Amino acid sequence: MENDINKAYELINEASIITVLTGAGISSESGVPIFRGSEGLWNNYRPEELATPKAFFENPGIVWEWYDWRRSVMKKAEPNHGHYALSELERQKDKFTLITQNVDGLHQLAGSDNIIEMHGNLWEIRCTKCNNLEKNYQVPIPELPPKCSKCSEIMRPNIVWFGEIIPMQKIDRCIFAIEESDLFMIIGTSGLVEPAASFGFVAKEHNKTVIEINLDETPGTGLYDLSIKAKSGEVLPLLVDSGNTLN
Ligand code: NAD
Ligand code: ZN
Repeated sequence: MENDINKAYELINEASIITVLTGAGISSESGVPIFRGSEGLWNNYRPEELATPKAFFENPGIVWEWYDWRRSVMKKAEPNHGHYALSELERQKDKFTLITQNVDGLHQLAGSDNIIEMHGNLWEIRCTKCNNLEKNYQVPIPELPPKCSKCSEIMRPNIVWFGEIIPMQKIDRCIFAIEESDLFMIIGTSGLVEPAASFGFVAKEHNKTVIEINLDETPGTGLYDLSIKAKSGEVLPLLVDSGNTLN
């Protein structure tokens, strides 16, 4: 493992354009539960049963209660050493793109700038009728479901749910960033949710160097140049000079 860390440090140091993909794992050390595993459960519902358009239109109240609970968990969460190391890395490179599947906003809080939020943001809500988009930081939200200030229809979380489509332009931006980079890093994502699950393979098809950091094996482990099995909040500060800027 120490060898892998040294090798990763060198690869990161040599690269001038880097693209990173993060998933729920990078925020788990901030106390935000990941989906897979018992800690992701809420009132015995699985996220796949709640984060869908069908569940929302059948029972918006229960889906909103779940989001209200997730927002209360995330409100207390702070970025960890992993988030800060990535924002430090962005300062050091000619070009740096951070693609995240997370909806918690912790990368922004840590100071990262060039972020593509593939699945939306938990602090944004949008009208189911007129598409009015609003920032909303209320925890708890006083009346569920919240109503649109423009047309009074119910609002939904501005999240891409299971069964919904990520806008093609966003996916194009991700692929473009991977294609133009020297190095692609995949951190804390199970590699089970498309299209992000395929990004590592896209990078390999373009002969990019790929480094994975995850506590567990994923479908891509073994195909990438390096797979470091460790906590991202512990490893990332070792890979980035003076990345340890948590205060
Ligand atoms: P996932 O829950 O499917 O997988 C998380 C991965 O992170 C696992 O492979 C696990 O082994 C790994 N992991 C856990 N702790 C780690 C650590 N400390 N360091 C390194 N790796 C660690 O997450 P996913 O792949 O992002 O897909 C789940 C979907 O759920 C995404 O679409 C995302 O939008 C959503 N989600 C978001 C959040 C959030 O915003 N923080 C939290 C839960 C789920
Ligand atoms: Zn409206």
